[in-house]
Amino acid sequence: MKYRAIKGVQDILPPDVYLWQEVESTARQVFAPFGYREIRTPVMEFTEVFTRGIGETTDIVEKEMYTFNDRAGRSMTLRPEGTAPVVRAYVENHLYSLPSPQKYYYIGPMFRYERPQKGRFRQFHQIGVETFGEEDPRMDAEVLDMLRCFFERVGVDNLRFEVNSIGCDECRPIYRRALIDFLTGQIDSLCSDCKRRYEVNPLRVLDCKVKGCGEIKKKAPGITDYLCSGCREHFDALRGYLELLKIPFRVNPEMVRGLDYYTRTTFEVTSEFLGARSAVAAGGRYDKLIEEFGGPAVPGIGFAIGVERLAALIKDRHGIREPVPTVYFAAIGDEAEKAAYKLASEMRTKGIRVELDYSGASLKSRFRKADRLKATYVFIFGEDELSRGTVRYKRLSDGEQGEINKDDVMQFFG
Ligand code: ATP
Ligand code: MG
Repeated sequence: MKYRAIKGVQDILPPDVYLWQEVESTARQVFAPFGYREIRTPVMEFTEVFTRGIGETTDIVEKEMYTFNDRAGRSMTLRPEGTAPVVRAYVENHLYSLPSPQKYYYIGPMFRYERPQKGRFRQFHQIGVETFGEEDPRMDAEVLDMLRCFFERVGVDNLRFEVNSIGCDECRPIYRRALIDFLTGQIDSLCSDCKRRYEVNPLRVLDCKVKGCGEIKKKAPGITDYLCSGCREHFDALRGYLELLKIPFRVNPEMVRGLDYYTRTTFEVTSEFLGARSAVAAGGRYDKLIEEFGGPAVPGIGFAIGVERLAALIKDRHGIREPVPTVYFAAIGDEAEKAAYKLASEMRTKGIRVELDYSGASLKSRFRKADRLKATYVFIFGEDELSRGTVRYKRLSDGEQGEINKDDVMQFFG
């Protein structure tokens, strides 16, 4: 074959694309009553938006970004995630002057140069939300509640909600120090990336997917033992509200997430069907990020759902039930074909799906095709029907047949 899609980048074909549309429209329906409105940011940004936003020593910035110079020599990056661009847009457009909280969602492609494997692509898609201007832990629980509601509505269960608090500017440095001290004693067992970066960004070791680092992580001091009183109160309150809303969750003190901008609450939603260390959704609070982008001191919290992983879960659980073509037209003879052609136009105009067949093939082969298309009805137009001003129909599910007046076709479909 001459042309192939780029490695790690895939076509989304029917019927899968139908599932994607369902997922997207469910997201819109679920987010709206919580007060979220859509925001669409560009797929590329100046590289600094991500290096500053996500953090220089994160996996994403160190090795996963699609970065290139444009013709004027400016460094551009295809967005690897959605939070930094939305924060950039929030600050640039002074959206903080609107009443708080401001709530946005986005749906779209993201790009990361990762090793392609199951559930991991170089172009993938996220449905994400960002909430600006509320620091109360009830907002954290509300965001998780919305996520629970979304998964319920798309029909995915058996998910694990894991939450953690990674502290703030006050308590994290103390934990960081303790972690560095611990890691210094383990340095020989760290992977080469972690050996290099553990002093600059020791939390990355906890997020490292290399097996050896995973072992070390189990013995490492936990951040939850180091939280300051403000962070502890926030985390305790969050857990209380999650219990109140009956959202089953587990505290995972090792979960730190791969992006530097998080403060306090972090969370991941995982499924045993996705394999180890794969989340279908993840997020957290980022109370300093808006300031980092030159905006006012406004707290934020959000999450992103991985659409490829979600679609795989739904497909395994329920399959895909794409709406089937409703009516397959089998007209025999020139005049009948003409009458059918015209009726098809009227029916389609009214929203009924009609499949026409210009092959002139035999009735038998057309029925075979109708079967393959999983049509609900076959409409048969012959000379007899034409002279009577009717069509004959056959329902393929049970073989029921009948004849209806052409003028009554629309009533037939209610
Ligand atoms: P992982 O730990 O699997 O690498 P991550 O922490 O890098 O994920 P986030 O940046 O939090 O992921 O993105 C949120 C969600 O987006 C993930 O939970 C996942 O469902 C999805 N996702 C992230 N990277 C990819 C990818 N390369 N291919 C497909 N989905 C992805
Ligand atoms: Mg990753």
